[in-house]
Amino acid sequence: MEYTAKPEAAAIHPGQPLDAVADWQQDMQTAIRSLDTLLTALALSPRDVAVSRAAAEQFPVLVTPAMLARMRPGDPRDPLLLQFLPRLEETFSQPPGYGGDPVSDSAALRGEGLLQKYAGRLLAISTGACAVHCRYCFRRHFPYSEQHAGAGRWQGALTLLRDDPSLHELILSGGDPLMLTDRRLAALLEPLAGIASVRRLRIHTRLPVVLPSRIDAGLAALLTAFPRALVVVVHVNHPRELDTAAAAALSRLRHAGALLLNQAVLLRGINDDLSTQMTLWQTLADAGVMPYYLHLLDPVTGAAHFDVPEHEARALVAALRARLPGYLVPRLAREIPGEPAKTVLA
Ligand SMILES: *Cc1c(COP(=O)(O)O)cnc(C)c1O
Ligand code: SF4
Repeated sequence: MEYTAKPEAAAIHPGQPLDAVADWQQDMQTAIRSLDTLLTALALSPRDVAVSRAAAEQFPVLVTPAMLARMRPGDPRDPLLLQFLPRLEETFSQPPGYGGDPVSDSAALRGEGLLQKYAGRLLAISTGACAVHCRYCFRRHFPYSEQHAGAGRWQGALTLLRDDPSLHELILSGGDPLMLTDRRLAALLEPLAGIASVRRLRIHTRLPVVLPSRIDAGLAALLTAFPRALVVVVHVNHPRELDTAAAAALSRLRHAGALLLNQAVLLRGINDDLSTQMTLWQTLADAGVMPYYLHLLDPVTGAAHFDVPEHEARALVAALRARLPGYLVPRLAREIPGEPAKTVLA
């Protein structure tokens, strides 16, 4: 995975408020990229936790400074750490049904980096880069370097959208689409606004939370200028991911006109208890983010230790439903290859 080259670097003027010069690409340069640095930063020794160097080689460690700052030093069971820590369990033999392409992305390709599985929605894998590497990620084995539509390759997506007016929504996915520079995003948004049949733009991103500095004034201006409905689906799994910096980034997106939704993945040992789930969806609502999906784990090789069985997940959501307003209960969903939509279980 590589990061986009540094763009039109903003000049730093003395006296400018800090926020105006916060540079997300500089933040990325200080991200943690090795298992040892991560353990040292959290005052953990490899004896405290069963880590796997082989797993770290296969899918490298990547944690942003903002995410690291929320982790509890000395706690090998910290639910934030466990999302990013290469554990020995990743190398264990996996149950039947686990594989490298669990949701059949390869079968849904409509062009380079372009997937269509569901009516009216075209999904563009706009970059392979992310700001963090989540161990349970269903795309951890996806051949990003061959399949992405970004980096000056928007033409394919724009042509498809122009030729097929049944496509009402473009979904930017990845990787993380906000890892693209403002200039690259502008190169998509401007021509997109000229295609009348595209009514909505949706952005799936973890950056408002894991790299809040990315939601800078330049990005906000770009999104504010986009003349169609804008939906931003963030990905927060645990309430402790939401600190004041994340809340400020989310607020900026709302002020840029985005409808904010959250999708979480139900993960063993991280957010599979009622109290964490209650706090998660309520804290998100405090930040102006409504629930979307609570996903069951996709059976991707190396992630089986995160799995929560369906009957347990259903009971958890039923308990949430008994305690929270209906609009704060996420849809429990699983992706079954070949179905016309994601399968909602509760
Ligand atoms: C998940 C997904 C979508 C979006 O589905 P929604 O239910 O609308 O969120 C669209 N295209 C692909 C390829 C997907 O995997
Ligand atoms: S695509 Fe999303 S879930 Fe996967 S590593 Fe990137 S941020 Fe994490």
